[in-house]
Amino acid sequence: ELEQQNRDIDEELQVNNSPNYDSEEFAWARSLRTAMRETFKIKEYRLCQRAVCNANVDGRDIVCVMPTGGGKSLTYQLPAFCGTGVTVVISPLISLISDQIMHLKELNVLAAKLTGSTSASESQQIHDRLENLIHGRPDRHLALLYVTPEKLSKSANFRALLQELADNRKLERFVVDEAHCVSTMGHDFRTDYRELNILRKYYPSVPIMALTATCPPKVLDDLVEVLCLKPICKGNKLDGTLYFTAPLYRPNLHYSVLAKPPQSKKAYSILVEYILEHHEGHCGVIYCTSKKQAEEVATSLQEAGIKTGFYHAEKEEHEKESLHGQWRRGEIKVICATTAFGMGIDKQDVRFVIHHSISKSLDGYYQESGRAGRDGKDADCVLFYRPQDAWTLAGMVNSPTGNERLFPMFNFVHDAVECRRLQFANYFSHSAELALSAWGNDAMDPCGHCDNCIRSGSEKEGRDVTLEIWQLVKLMQAVCVCGSRYTAQQIVELARKGATRKNASAETVDMERVCGGLIKLDKEDIEFLLVWMWTKGYVAVKCQQNQYGTNVYISAGSMAAQLLPWSKEEVSGSGCMMVTFLPKSRKEKITPNGKEKCREVVVDDYDEDAMFADDEVEITYL
Ligand code: ADP
Ligand code: MG
Repeated sequence: ELEQQNRDIDEELQVNNSPNYDSEEFAWARSLRTAMRETFKIKEYRLCQRAVCNANVDGRDIVCVMPTGGGKSLTYQLPAFCGTGVTVVISPLISLISDQIMHLKELNVLAAKLTGSTSASESQQIHDRLENLIHGRPDRHLALLYVTPEKLSKSANFRALLQELADNRKLERFVVDEAHCVSTMGHDFRTDYRELNILRKYYPSVPIMALTATCPPKVLDDLVEVLCLKPICKGNKLDGTLYFTAPLYRPNLHYSVLAKPPQSKKAYSILVEYILEHHEGHCGVIYCTSKKQAEEVATSLQEAGIKTGFYHAEKEEHEKESLHGQWRRGEIKVICATTAFGMGIDKQDVRFVIHHSISKSLDGYYQESGRAGRDGKDADCVLFYRPQDAWTLAGMVNSPTGNERLFPMFNFVHDAVECRRLQFANYFSHSAELALSAWGNDAMDPCGHCDNCIRSGSEKEGRDVTLEIWQLVKLMQAVCVCGSRYTAQQIVELARKGATRKNASAETVDMERVCGGLIKLDKEDIEFLLVWMWTKGYVAVKCQQNQYGTNVYISAGSMAAQLLPWSKEEVSGSGCMMVTFLPKSRKEKITPNGKEKCREVVVDDYDEDAMFADDEVEITYL
């Protein structure tokens, strides 16, 4: 009976389960390994590369999530090189494609690109090669063809050629690089990527592989839907899309969030100081929210003698290229850029990535900061945060889905307690099962070297802010009536002084009557609380476009109703809501390459006379 049972189990395993892709028990294993060493000059597979290569040769649909710099390219380039047909890679940017082709050329692997700017003769040559492939005529093996999504959606000729290739079994697979671009929930949505449903529709027999570094659950759902992939198979079933993922946390990256002074000039000088102190002469990237900011930061760095360039989407193509070149060659050490810079850029020795402001999503932040330390050596990922920036972003994003993506980013910067590795793990894990496979046995261990791991226990102690939150809710409830609108800054002023300036005239509120008195927190902490309250539903945000830009107004949110029935006595000291503020006016610990180092940053309180200044408030650093 037992024997029969065992036979049944064996049979079931054979029928339903995929082979163990993470092994060398395949007829093709040796040729892959040889090509990896001799052609690609790589000694050993890393992360989940071996399993993905095998699954690729086996013709499976694949979603592969690997950290930036993890080596996603090899997982399709190696099978492509060892195969006989052509692998078509869809990539969002010409600069990315050029990078890849250049790299492959150095390795003597034949690859080509078809984009909007490919010349007619070049294009003809590629067509000839593909025709030769279809008809089995002797020619050099064109292993890889890179295209932009527009090429695919716009050129009927090209699609017909692909059809012919597919019919003759010479189209080995489609690879969708930076696949998170298909999703509006991703951090870099591209409309053209939506059209990629044609891959499965027109070429149902061709396997599809999707590659990305960031794929939270909603993006994964979109990916499967848009690319018409078979459902993700759990437990290695033979049918379905295989999902591969590699550890998302890179131990050589040291994450920290630092409080940023409210005034731009001060913020710039703190940044310069940080670089001179910890990364003099090192290569780095500074991400900024706007073109203007990137330019200003670059100027500050240049004035301090740091060789710096700035980069944004509106630069001419040749300017971008020359900047890339200078950076690659080390003639420029630091690049100040908007997020237009860097997707897939393969520079190994980036020792720091600084975010001068928060990103529009945690995916984006992870991706951008992941450009540090690709060589596996220590690197710092530092994010400068001030609550003002949260409202600025709210104005830039100005959409419900956009806001939904902002919240995980806010939670990350507001969390001064939990290990950054665990925060990323919680955010990116799709289910307990997948999380475990992605993180291995020590999945839930803190990293031990991020800012929160290094911070002492007393610094992590939460502060009871139930009363202050209740006061803020009461205040907003009282003043935001009859279409009266307040910015976060105005609410902060009212909260601290019972007065603000509105429409060029002073406005006062009887704080004692409205919410039992002034709020006794400093400006920064109240701003911090308001952002926190937004993520929890106690604050609602409305944006209003005007000729100068977008105004962001706040009012009591839907959760506020739950607090309103309480009395001041009931909420005081109740400990219902605890918050740990970012250290700001105390000793600031900065962790260059994981080594503890202290520096003193003393923040004075706000200059009272400047309270009514419209824009930035002066702040004095001692
Ligand atoms: P990404 O996952 O960001 O697309 P790439 O595929 O561009 O990363 O690879 C990043 C770098 O890592 C490249 O320089 C590549 O040659 C290198 N690399 C890839 N796989 C390995 C490996 N197994 N061992 C050593 N280096 C590797
Ligand atoms: Mg890549």
